[in-house]
Amino acid sequence: MTRESALVLFSGGQDSTVCLAWALARFERVETIGFDYGQRHRIELAQRPKVRERILADLPELADRLGEDHVVDLSGLGSISDTALTREREIDFHENGLPSTFVPGRNLVFLTFAAALAYRRGLSRLVGGMCETDFSGYPDCRRQTIDAMEQALTLGLERATPIDTPLMRMTKAATWRLAEDLGGETLVRLIVEETHTCYLGERGRLHSWGYGCGGCPACQLRSRGWDEYVSGRFA
Ligand code: ZN
Repeated sequence: MTRESALVLFSGGQDSTVCLAWALARFERVETIGFDYGQRHRIELAQRPKVRERILADLPELADRLGEDHVVDLSGLGSISDTALTREREIDFHENGLPSTFVPGRNLVFLTFAAALAYRRGLSRLVGGMCETDFSGYPDCRRQTIDAMEQALTLGLERATPIDTPLMRMTKAATWRLAEDLGGETLVRLIVEETHTCYLGERGRLHSWGYGCGGCPACQLRSRGWDEYVSGRFA
C-alpha cells in the first residue's frame, strides 16, 4: 500500500465497484464521486450507497480506508444530450457507428469535476473504470483520451493529476477474476447482488451474473464475461 490517496469515479456498476476495491487495496485514503446527469434509470444511483454499505459491512480489511462519498448534480449534461441513457429512445447505432447509449462528453465532464473535487479534498489520484477491451464503442473510454485528459488537467490545475484505469486492458471475465483476487467470494457476491449495469434499469430477477434484462448490450457483456469467468474457474 502506498501513502497516496484517490478519488474513485463510482457509478454503482460492476466496473467502478471493482475499481473501488482496487483503490482500497492500494491507497491510504479513498473517497468516491458519483454523478446525477439525468440518467433515465435511477437504479444505478440508488445502488451506490448499498454497494458502499456492503463493503463497510463485509470487507473490513478494505473498508478501513473508505472515506466520504460525493454526489454531483450534472443534470445540465442530461438536458443537452439526446441519448438512449437520458431519453426514451431505442438502443441502436448512429450512422457514425457509435451506439445511442453514448453520452457525448460524459467522461470528459466527469473527469473534470472529479479533478476539481480531488483538488479541494487533497486527493492525489483519480481512478476510473474505463475499458477499451470489451469496447462498447465509446471513444472517451480509450486510454488515449484519458492520457489527453490527464495532461489537460495537470496543466490546467497546475497539479499532477494522474488517472488510473486498472480495467483498461481487461476483458469482463478478467474483471470478475480481479474482483475475486481483491476480495474473494465475498466481493464477487457483493458485485453480483448489489451492482447495476443494465441499460434498461431492469432489476426484477437475480441471474447468476446479477440483475438485469439479459438482452441489452450491457447485460450481454456482463453475462458473457461471467460465463467465461466461471468456466475458467472450474477448468
Ligand atoms: Zn439489460
